Amino acid sequence: MDFIARIIRFLFWVLVISWGVRLLRWIVGRLLGNSTAATERTADASAGLETPGSSRRLVRDPVCGMHVDETLSIPLREDGELLHFCSLACRDAHLGNVKKFAANG
Ligand SMILES: [Zn+2]
Repeated sequence: MDFIARIIRFLFWVLVISWGVRLLRWIVGRLLGNSTAATERTADASAGLETPGSSRRLVRDPVCGMHVDETLSIPLREDGELLHFCSLACRDAHLGNVKKFAANG
């Protein structure tokens, strides 16, 4: 019976050690995975910022009233005033309105 008890104890320790190794691997993998994900996320964030450090300004599209990031907007200088549009469609709509206004007098 002593022999069997030893085998059982041995198997128990093998199980414990294998679990421990698996747990350690899981923890290390999680830590490494998290750190790489974090660096990817920060890289994405810095790539998304076109002008890091400078304050980003929101400008209002006079056609649809939407607020757009100044760096992403479509600028149009008109009578010395700088207008910002969310899209080319809005800019064209504004230009069309101006033309219409001009045509109507
Ligand atoms: Zn717009």
